[in-house]
Amino acid sequence: MAHFAIAIHGGCGVMAKLNLTEAEWSAARADLAQALRMGWAKLVAGAGALDAVAAAVVVMEDSPHFNAGHGAALNTNGEHELDAAVMDGATLGAGAVCAARRIRNPVKAARALMERGESVLLTGSAADAFAQDQGLDIVDPHYFTTERRREALASMKAHEREGTSLSASEAEKHGTVGAVALDAAGHLAAATSTGGFTNKPAGRVGDSPIIGAGTYARDGACAVSGTGKGEYFIRHVVGHEIASRMRYLGETLKKAADKVVMEDLAPYKIGAGLVAIDAAGNIAAPYNTDGMFRGWVTIEGDLYVATHDEVFFVERLAGGMTRAGE
Ligand code: ASP
Repeated sequence: MAHFAIAIHGGCGVMAKLNLTEAEWSAARADLAQALRMGWAKLVAGAGALDAVAAAVVVMEDSPHFNAGHGAALNTNGEHELDAAVMDGATLGAGAVCAARRIRNPVKAARALMERGESVLLTGSAADAFAQDQGLDIVDPHYFTTERRREALASMKAHEREGTSLSASEAEKHGTVGAVALDAAGHLAAATSTGGFTNKPAGRVGDSPIIGAGTYARDGACAVSGTGKGEYFIRHVVGHEIASRMRYLGETLKKAADKVVMEDLAPYKIGAGLVAIDAAGNIAAPYNTDGMFRGWVTIEGDLYVATHDEVFFVERLAGGMTRAGE
């Protein structure tokens, strides 16, 4: 019987320092659950994994609680430069935009670029112009700014003046959203979208739009979407590394993902996490920080969300596979 599954993240970090009220934590969890429902609905309707991950990421881009789209981080000039990518594990087709400034949902532009098939990565104003040509929603850059992000930039500038940037929490600086899915046809896909990190240099591009680093999917192996200081994900080519460990060493998804996050990246103390899914629908969501916004729907349709250690069962969605005896 066909089965499918989906997992998402909304960034990792020293979550205690996010200073969210209980209402804000619960609103963020509600948005994670909604992103999963939208992605799952695509899978149940027989759509491909790519449709599912894009649908889930759009919900998180539109939510003010995550560092992507509305609510994205501000760079050192107080501007937004957004990165996003999608990858189709069936064809190894990929599309990405970086340093985009006016695209309401950068993941949609990444998808459109992939579909066009001509180039994989478009930068800055060319990415904005491409999205506009495609008829995607174009917004004034202020649309992306929230009060929380203004405060985060002010606080990072203060750390910079005082020479205490290193002691700023990862959560003050980072965040990203991403999704991975397995569809009923056995195909995998990944999507990632981010504002990068607060006070980042103008023109800096992170790992999210770099295929193989923050975003990767390959049928038969896995789909991966990462979060954490992108420079290290690029240097370790994280998504491709996990897929390669599975393909060449025969490691399970969990073993390969844990090795990269808990052993390879942990010593840098930069804070790293990811969600990944394999061809059987197994899900891994390792992080080496205090917490990571995350959630998944298992092949049975069970929807879970989590921010720290505790994992909340939300509901069983229709359309999942029933195991014998249930
Ligand atoms: N990976 C993102 C970047 O470096 C940021 C993050 O996930 O925290 O752009």
